[in-house]
Amino acid sequence: MPFVEVAVNSGLPHRQTFSYAVPPEMTLVAGDAVFVPFGRRFLQGIVMGVVEVPAFANPKPVDARIGDQPVVSAERVELAGWLAEYYLSPLFAAVAPMLPPGFERKPQTFYEPLITADELASTKLPPRQQAVLSYLIGAGERREAKEIERDFTHGETGKLADGTRVTGVVTALSQLAQRGLVQRSYGLARPSVRAKTARYVYLLVPPEQAREASEALAAQRKKRLATALTHLAASGQRMLASELRMRAGVGLPDLRPLAEQGLIEVREDQVERDPLAGRFYDTRPVAELTPEQTEAANAVCAAIDAASGESFLLHGVTGSGKTEVYLAALDHAVAQGKRGIVLVPEIALTPQTVRRFAERFAGQVAVLHSGLSQGELYDQWHGIRDGRYNVVVGSRSAVFAPQPNLGLIVIDEEHEWTYKQQDQSPRYHARETAEQLAKLTGAALVLGSATPDVVSYQNALWGRHRLLELKDRVRPVIDDTGKVVSISTSPDLPPVDVVDMREELKGGNRSVFSRSLQLGLFQVLDRNEQAILFLNRRGTAGFVQCRDCGYVPQCSACAIAMGFHRRMHPEGFAIERLLCHQCNRGRPMFDRCPTCGSARLRPMGLGVEAVEDEVHALFPEARTLRWDRDVTQGRHSHEQILAEFMEGKADVLIGTQMVAKGLDLPAVTLVGVISADIGLHIPDFRSGERTFQLLTQVAGRAGRVMILGRDGPPAGRVVIQTYTPDNYAIVAAAQHDYASFFAEEVALRREQAYPPFTRLARLVFSHSNAAYGERQADAMAQELRTRISQRGLPGAEVLGPAPPHVPKWHGRFRWQVTVRSPNPVELVGDLTLAEGWLLDIDPASLA
Ligand code: ADP
Ligand code: ZN
Ligand code: ZN
Repeated sequence: MPFVEVAVNSGLPHRQTFSYAVPPEMTLVAGDAVFVPFGRRFLQGIVMGVVEVPAFANPKPVDARIGDQPVVSAERVELAGWLAEYYLSPLFAAVAPMLPPGFERKPQTFYEPLITADELASTKLPPRQQAVLSYLIGAGERREAKEIERDFTHGETGKLADGTRVTGVVTALSQLAQRGLVQRSYGLARPSVRAKTARYVYLLVPPEQAREASEALAAQRKKRLATALTHLAASGQRMLASELRMRAGVGLPDLRPLAEQGLIEVREDQVERDPLAGRFYDTRPVAELTPEQTEAANAVCAAIDAASGESFLLHGVTGSGKTEVYLAALDHAVAQGKRGIVLVPEIALTPQTVRRFAERFAGQVAVLHSGLSQGELYDQWHGIRDGRYNVVVGSRSAVFAPQPNLGLIVIDEEHEWTYKQQDQSPRYHARETAEQLAKLTGAALVLGSATPDVVSYQNALWGRHRLLELKDRVRPVIDDTGKVVSISTSPDLPPVDVVDMREELKGGNRSVFSRSLQLGLFQVLDRNEQAILFLNRRGTAGFVQCRDCGYVPQCSACAIAMGFHRRMHPEGFAIERLLCHQCNRGRPMFDRCPTCGSARLRPMGLGVEAVEDEVHALFPEARTLRWDRDVTQGRHSHEQILAEFMEGKADVLIGTQMVAKGLDLPAVTLVGVISADIGLHIPDFRSGERTFQLLTQVAGRAGRVMILGRDGPPAGRVVIQTYTPDNYAIVAAAQHDYASFFAEEVALRREQAYPPFTRLARLVFSHSNAAYGERQADAMAQELRTRISQRGLPGAEVLGPAPPHVPKWHGRFRWQVTVRSPNPVELVGDLTLAEGWLLDIDPASLA
């Protein structure tokens, strides 16, 4: 009799499987979903393996198999096992991301009669069982338990000969199953699709008429209504009411006068959740690859053919056409009957990238993203599993998509920290996971970036990935009318001007903008070009501080300084609020310092909202658009902001790190970094790297085209403002010099023993009692230090305990213990962690 090892969904953090016996009439394979007895309950589980000898003696039998085919492929079962071991994650949590959506809900139970009507007639059964079985035989096919119950409570079926209603149907079904007269089976139900709706404001008149009406309203000093109409005219046909409120400061009741005039109408519409729905992509002509691109694509294609699971690091400067290489390799995979998965950092932030895949593989792309309902996810998942899509595009968790016959996995912008899951188990990194999946399936893996993670690059030098380099930028050459006349390739990147803001101050310039940036902005506006201003800080100011006693208001739940947000109400007064950028808790700004009573509470550390105000103050005619978390709460607004900017509806785009993502914005000729120093002082070993990556990515937004007949090669310029112009990350970013950044960074990492020269594990304890939390953390650090000396682990070290960068989270105090070791699992793998502990292997950050 064979046995199975099962990952059981018990809700407890087990890392081991449980053994069960397979009943004679059942055949099971790895990946099957089953029902198993667990204590006094019956729980769902996944078969992780079929064995001859169980890990535990005399196991109980499996109760039932769920569904009629395995829910996870054999390779992915292995992947789950790897995740649990590598990230020390509970086993069921490790397999859960690979299961069909809705799996964890109660499965449906089906009953099927095993005897005929004649046989029933000769069987003596209690009246209740008799009635139920006769109903099932009459139905002629298997019936779902809920359905049976419904028929018995409401239908004619449910009456006995004497007219009384049959009760206890469920019990009767179990008794019949026990007697072997009916067969019980289980299946997974499709979750119901509940359409998500939202209120939209529709423009009922042509845009020109709306603009005229808006001017008339402005003349009557009805400014907000006028603004609302301009926004509606700009959006085309309709706009989310919530977005209009954000942009124009008007709620639905305020809009009534417009509705009365027949200009607008409010309708409740279904929200679109399929990012490709209703959009028709032209099939774009396939680009002819440059020699560099061809070489890179050929290497990947050969690996796809060899099915060797080889991994590549595609290092190509921004605009070098990495996406064209992915597309060519995907084409090849699809031509061989294989399929691909493409990971992008965040679907909402990369609409252009998603679009390029959808264009090339029209009708063959599934997009997985967080906006899908359970029902839609269920359909997508099954569509993918059944091989209906050649390409799956999605963020981090799409690495678990059940894509069959995998030939290629692409991770675009592989250095992005969103690829590491931090908030729940398994705390996996999509890159390592994809590497493992590639080995298991033989798929080729391509990691692409202009600024590879230092760890990935060093791994490539050590031979773990094959390095492919694209050194040239591919630029369309356009004439005066904006028409593309040819393609130019050269390694030139836009010139970068690093401005020392200390010198500006000495020179008497107290503005947010250096003289160089002011001049640049002036020229951009003068020539009707576009600029991007980048500042990685939300709000008007980073924090407020009392000039008399030094008090800084903090979030009571997170114990970090609250951001300061100031916006003008259309009636002309300012609304000032404090907002926690960690947990979103907000409160009105204090009139007076709550500790000393002083009125001198001052905003400190500039934020993007203040930058926008400054642009307006200096260039009243400039049309600006802001792109940060505070304006993108609505669903399509990332894409709308981008679309508006691309259509030339604004001259200056001002934003946080969102503007640094892989955007291709040809009309942008100036990029200004307001303060390059913000990320440098976060207490994290990756702060230099993050700064370099962000600056390089932002700088790469400029000069994406060449303009025929204009002086100087690329039509673009970058200004980086800083108080630390000598910092290596800033110097290297200014020269677009990955090699020198890498050399410097890797030397630091080696010297200070950080990855890639060792590995880290982070243990965080959270508790409502600060002193108790500290004692627990102390005991943990002690225990780990003892283990190191007892086990004689070379190169292992314990840091802390110390309060992390965010010392409080949801009102609980946090303490952190960090482990540094070539193999942290040797040290922490067998810890039993009490409630309140969180363990993160290879953490993305220690801050
Ligand atoms: P990356 O992903 O490296 O930033 P992209 O793939 O976005 O670069 O390429 C930048 C721009 O150059 C895009 O507009 C792309 O269509 C264009 N491009 C890239 N390679 C070619 C090529 N071989 N022929 C024509 N256009 C190309
Ligand atoms: Zn004070
Ligand atoms: Zn908070």
